[in-house]
Amino acid sequence: MTLSITQALAIIYENSTVVSTEILPIEMALGRVMWEDSIATFDLPRFDNSAMDGYAVKCSDAHTTVTCSEVIYAGDNPQMTLQKTHTIKIMTGAPIPKGCEAVVPIENVTLNDTQITLPENIQVNAHIRRAGEDIKIGTIYLHKGEKVTAYSIALLASQGITHIKVTRQIKVAVFGTGDELRPHFEKIEPHQLYNSNTPMFLSRAKELGCTVQYIGSSADTMESLESAITSALSADIIITSGGVSMGDKDFTKEAFTNLGMTLHFDKVDIKPGKPTAFGTIGDTLIINLPGNPLASMVNYEIFVRAAMRKMSGMNAFYHTSIVTQMRDDFRLRAGKHTVRLGNFDGKTFMPFEKQLPGMLSPLAAANAMLITLPEVSSLEKNKHVKIIPISWEITSSEQEDFFTS
Ligand code: AMP
Ligand code: MG
Repeated sequence: MTLSITQALAIIYENSTVVSTEILPIEMALGRVMWEDSIATFDLPRFDNSAMDGYAVKCSDAHTTVTCSEVIYAGDNPQMTLQKTHTIKIMTGAPIPKGCEAVVPIENVTLNDTQITLPENIQVNAHIRRAGEDIKIGTIYLHKGEKVTAYSIALLASQGITHIKVTRQIKVAVFGTGDELRPHFEKIEPHQLYNSNTPMFLSRAKELGCTVQYIGSSADTMESLESAITSALSADIIITSGGVSMGDKDFTKEAFTNLGMTLHFDKVDIKPGKPTAFGTIGDTLIINLPGNPLASMVNYEIFVRAAMRKMSGMNAFYHTSIVTQMRDDFRLRAGKHTVRLGNFDGKTFMPFEKQLPGMLSPLAAANAMLITLPEVSSLEKNKHVKIIPISWEITSSEQEDFFTS
């Protein structure tokens, strides 16, 4: 039975169990997924402090001349109390002294030795950063299921957190199948082919935060396949390519089944990549992708990536899309859910004209893809389309105006 993409994804999500956890120093946790909420144990800022280099004042002294006899620096622990008709010079980040109602920036006063003339109208709290205005004690500042980024590491450090509980890295094992395949570091005969899928799958898995096991490739025999599978069984996800369609030597699924795989589906209504198969052996997921590089790549992006996100413990594990407009007219053959790789430049999307399942050249050039419904045969210029990002870093080769007016 051929499943829809949505049905296939539902089965993958259902069978993807979240991996175990470990405790890591925050500096080592980049890219991992938080396994616990982080709750603030103190206010941030911790104490009321000055947002400017300036003068600590009482608002009722506005438009008068006051006397300055003291200075508070960042790192000081001031004990004095500000009196009326006086001011205390204060630096950015320094604690606000008792009795201070506002800070007047240096550039807004007139100086005459220790005599400071203040401006009119000083608002209460002006240029004072209040304790807890950023993060209140007791509130959750990072949530379970969120990815650890440089910015979450900054938050953790600001709370004096040294270690956090995160999910461990997902272990991915990869091999290709095909008598024609040879590794890229060997000499080949004209009728042979370099295995490009295995390095692609491994590198993408690394990019997505997994650890990887390189198994290389298997010949198109049951013995060779079973031996490759056996050495991959300790992985969380085994990704293979090739040997899953109607060919005489397409034994991949059979070999996995012989070793105990429960097959959940082996056909998806997707072009390219219909013969994509998914099974499990215990908690290990098995995804057999087609051998054709472009077909395997798009199904990896749609199905393997979905499994990785779910297994990593991410809360937001579903695919999402960006709505953009077509750069130009594009025609395609109706009849199937069709994936088209292309380029999103931040404003519009354009599918590549030249893309066949067996091609490799479009892969590196694509930063997004779209999936059309079976009835779609053309996409007109300016039509709104939903694209799924592959890579998020969108830059320009020409300097652009990026300001909002
Ligand atoms: P298959 O799915 O085994 O019928 O293979 C489909 C096509 O993909 C054939 O032209 C294979 O030679 C090619 N192919 C299979 N595996 C790989 C691989 N690992 N790297 C590059 N091409 C491959
Ligand atoms: Mg083959």
